Amino acid sequence: MLIRVASAACLLLSASAFAQDDALISEDAANTARELMQRGLESDTGYEVVRSLTTEVGPRLGGSEQEARARDWAVQMFTELGFENVRIEPFDMPYWDRGAIRASIVSPFPQPLYASALGGSAASPQGGIEGEFVFFDSFQDLYDFDGRLDGRIAYVNDRMVRLQNGGGYNTANEKRRFAWLEAEARGALGVMIRSVGTDSRRFPHTGMMSRPQPNTIETGRHSPIVVDYIESEYPDYAETGISSSIPAVALSAPDADQIERIHDTGETIIVSLSVVAGWRGQRQSGNVIAEIPGRELPDEIVLIGAHLDSWDEATGAVDDGAGVGIVTGAAHLISQLPRAPRRTIRVVLFGAEEVGLLGAFAYARQNAAETGNIVMASESDFGAGPVLSLTSGASEEGTLFMDEVQGIIAPLGILRGDRASRGGGPDIIPLAAQGVPVFRLMQDGTDYFDLHHTPDDTFDKIDPDDFAQNVAAWAAVVWLAADAEIEFRMQDE
Ligand code: ZN
Ligand code: ZN
Repeated sequence: MLIRVASAACLLLSASAFAQDDALISEDAANTARELMQRGLESDTGYEVVRSLTTEVGPRLGGSEQEARARDWAVQMFTELGFENVRIEPFDMPYWDRGAIRASIVSPFPQPLYASALGGSAASPQGGIEGEFVFFDSFQDLYDFDGRLDGRIAYVNDRMVRLQNGGGYNTANEKRRFAWLEAEARGALGVMIRSVGTDSRRFPHTGMMSRPQPNTIETGRHSPIVVDYIESEYPDYAETGISSSIPAVALSAPDADQIERIHDTGETIIVSLSVVAGWRGQRQSGNVIAEIPGRELPDEIVLIGAHLDSWDEATGAVDDGAGVGIVTGAAHLISQLPRAPRRTIRVVLFGAEEVGLLGAFAYARQNAAETGNIVMASESDFGAGPVLSLTSGASEEGTLFMDEVQGIIAPLGILRGDRASRGGGPDIIPLAAQGVPVFRLMQDGTDYFDLHHTPDDTFDKIDPDDFAQNVAAWAAVVWLAADAEIEFRMQDE
């Protein structure tokens, strides 16, 4: 026992010696961070922001009237909270609309199915389609299938694995992103997938399909059959891009289980499907921006963001109303300090994230001249679960600085994660690709994909205590990064 006490005392001594001689964060700045954490745990400003957004605006699909209302809401909200330089940066985008859907089993056991069109899905022909199911256990099985699917409907069944860090998503999501093209290239009438999600509720999960876009080389994971199909049917795809010509929908997990049980009987399954989705021309979206100007280095920017748009079937509380509330709440706490941080804090609420990171690319394009001034960037877009770890991707000195930051926020239950991460959140991808340093407050995402992109993503799902822990952590990290003079950018970039 005596030994343990002694070693604890040694730790304390060495920690304080370290703080005096070598610390990158002053005791003064650290104390302010601790005060912000305390206020973050007590404040309900961010939580009320989410309540207001999800209640007064509701669903806000990228490019829709609802999303335009969300921008007006955000301008008013930022202004009332006392932020400066509040503005909208508009951009044009192609608009996809969901419309109505009807899906049912025709044979052998007639009954309705709960389904949702995937973003980018085409409409079915007038009167709908009816066809035999071709059952694929996984996207890989469809990818490897060397036969035709003419007159039939491809069905892809693979399940998502539930993991704390959401790591099951990318693999499970391949079928949402690419199955339509594998099915279409083989002549299918349509494609259905088991929803990309971890719940067992009767809510389908929507989400965007990927498509080879104009002027990009990267087209995704496609089989040789798809590559041949693109080359023969869309020789100019690099200029024109490709849109689906068949309906593509996700079934809720219990409906997918039902399909699986019927498939196991060996009976042929016939399904009917009517979808009225499609691309509806160009619309306007926009990013909403607000700032706390820096007191000494106003041109240097710590950029924090979330996305303002949501899927249309819910009020987008965990995706990404929570992020909007977390970064706004944290920045607002910092704005209430007696003096501003050295650097400017810029809050960006990105438009049209769900439909292809369109706001993120527009932001990077419209503010290209300024990218070099962004000293650090991060987005909150993984729900409202508690933060478990701090990751970062920065210079050597910046990484040591973030080690100290983690020491300060450790009482919130936050560990040090990856110290060489390139991830700052989806809307930060275009900036990180240009060498902007990033951090991330990694949340517990165990339950995130139960709600993600379903009609069940509503305000009641946010736990106020977990939410407050997020605000506390963001306020501390953003304050420390913005008040520092550390060069976070790597020298070779
Ligand atoms: Zn999101
Ligand atoms: Zn989303």
